[in-house]
Amino acid sequence: MVLPSSDIWQLFDIEKTDKKSKAVCKFCCFKYAFPNATRMTNHILNQCSKCTLEIKQKYGNQKKKKVTKISC
Ligand SMILES: [Zn+2]
Repeated sequence: MVLPSSDIWQLFDIEKTDKKSKAVCKFCCFKYAFPNATRMTNHILNQCSKCTLEIKQKYGNQKKKKVTKISC
């Protein structure tokens, strides 16, 4: 199994069980039975109460798309 290169995985410990792997948040120990980078990012940004603002900003900025407003 090849992990995605996204470094959101660095914020989680991977627990391997039979055929499956769980991701455990290093900050609040929240477990994801079916780890997925999108959900994990969402956890860090919106749900995790223990990770630092610095980290939230780091991952938040990565995900944001530039919104360009077209003015008439
Ligand atoms: Zn967490």
